Amino acid sequence: MFMEETETLSRARLSVLQSQRLEDLLNRLRTLDSPYWKAKLAGVKAFSAVEEIAALPFTEKAEFRDTYPYGMLTAPLEKVVRVHASSGTSGKPTIVAYTQDDVALFAEVNARALAAVGATAADVVQISYGYGLFTGGLGLHYGVERLGATAVPASGGNPGFQVALMADIGATGLAATPSFALILAERAAADGLTEKLKLDWGIHGAEPWSEGLRDKLENAWGREYHARDIYGLSEIIGPGVAIECRDGKGGMHVFEDHFFPEIVNPATGEPVADGEPGELVLTTLTKQAQPVLRYRTRDITRFMPGDCPCGRTSRRIARLEGRADDMLIIRGINVYPRTIETVLMDDPDTGANYAIIVDRRGELPELEARVELAHTGLVGSEDQVATRLAERLMETVRLRVKVDVGPPGSVPRTEVGKAKRVFEQTDDTDPLAS
Ligand SMILES: [Zn+2]
Repeated sequence: MFMEETETLSRARLSVLQSQRLEDLLNRLRTLDSPYWKAKLAGVKAFSAVEEIAALPFTEKAEFRDTYPYGMLTAPLEKVVRVHASSGTSGKPTIVAYTQDDVALFAEVNARALAAVGATAADVVQISYGYGLFTGGLGLHYGVERLGATAVPASGGNPGFQVALMADIGATGLAATPSFALILAERAAADGLTEKLKLDWGIHGAEPWSEGLRDKLENAWGREYHARDIYGLSEIIGPGVAIECRDGKGGMHVFEDHFFPEIVNPATGEPVADGEPGELVLTTLTKQAQPVLRYRTRDITRFMPGDCPCGRTSRRIARLEGRADDMLIIRGINVYPRTIETVLMDDPDTGANYAIIVDRRGELPELEARVELAHTGLVGSEDQVATRLAERLMETVRLRVKVDVGPPGSVPRTEVGKAKRVFEQTDDTDPLAS
């Protein structure tokens, strides 16, 4: 562990620490001469236990847009040393600001995340997340340096160059979106580099991905490879909010000493019963430039029961089940793209790339899934695989899904940024063609 004492605090001591930090934060926020914070805290009574956090108002994504660019800041601009931005779905991006302390915290939680997947100072880590305004590249980068490992800031794109570099420099770790990691693995195999690679583990986040996709990714390098999930979002800090450790597949430890998690019913905002799925809500306890109270992440997850074999005492959230915003409503049935992915990826004969098309040309929307065969030896079995997948999708999502199975490489890949998986079809042009 990178910070063993902190990461193994008893639950009682952790709660005291969280309460103290929350109280300090609220005291600081109350002194600010800020219209945003005065309005946010109006009517909030003083309290001193983190268990009472539900007395605080939620924060919604729209507030970042409404206060763009600096309305939520709690530190003067001369204390801000960096900003990142996430692309908004419409209009202005979301700006997030960091003080010197925030940048140090960002490095610390990423160093802790890297150590949790098994990284040490001896590792050489290729960072194939995009650098720039997106938090992924720089977040992992400073985490690698803080850990004392070697950072290779490869950024996204250019897979041929990237796999040759990985082989030459002896990269042992990879940080990339799961979809780009698969592109790299395919390219390494195609370029005959598999034997030369020293990769041992990968940190893969920024897109939700299923256990079936993990199996494909872990088997794609032709050597033992440990693929682990990382969770984060720029509104909170970026990557490094939660990490799936080497020993505890399936759940992600939240760095609760800095980010307080709750899970609520996305419709009512009320807490769900322990272990039930709901929307993750996060409060930053220690951020300086731009703290956030009870941020509605729109990510659907649940708390995992039991202790983790790794010895960390922080609560774990399940790997994401979907986004409240991504939920598709097809013929009155709620469907998460992630559920469809799970069915497509669990089939041994499918490759790791897929696309979901919502065909809105008719009166009622229709779903189509496009997937490719795992290898050329399977060519000829397309119809068989398609029938099997359509039957499983009917059982799982209770919807008729048109399944189109093509040869390996037939589904377009995303080489830069987050993979686009869901496409809308509104006219007769193929939505995947552009
Ligand atoms: Zn663990």
